[in-house]
Amino acid sequence: MSAKPILRRCVACRQLQDRRHLWRVIRDHKDGVLLDFGMGRSAYLCPKEECLEEARRRKRLQKALRCQVPDAVLTTLNGRLSASTGESAEAN
Ligand SMILES: [Zn+2]
Repeated sequence: MSAKPILRRCVACRQLQDRRHLWRVIRDHKDGVLLDFGMGRSAYLCPKEECLEEARRRKRLQKALRCQVPDAVLTTLNGRLSASTGESAEAN
């Protein structure tokens, strides 16, 4: 029925996952580092505290994108994490 999922690798835990379930961080060619939408090199991250923390500590997004990633990006993702806790997070 549904189309085959497009798999992408999380930069922190290295697991392949359905792209729709991952956070996408894009190094846009003109706007810098963006979330979700943009044109350019992309890095993917599981929407999990462990992966976010791992990416932050080991600078995985910086390495994957080969550029500086503003703290604001990680802060935004962290905010999404807390926002989803209790709802969708528990469904897993
Ligand atoms: Zn992960």
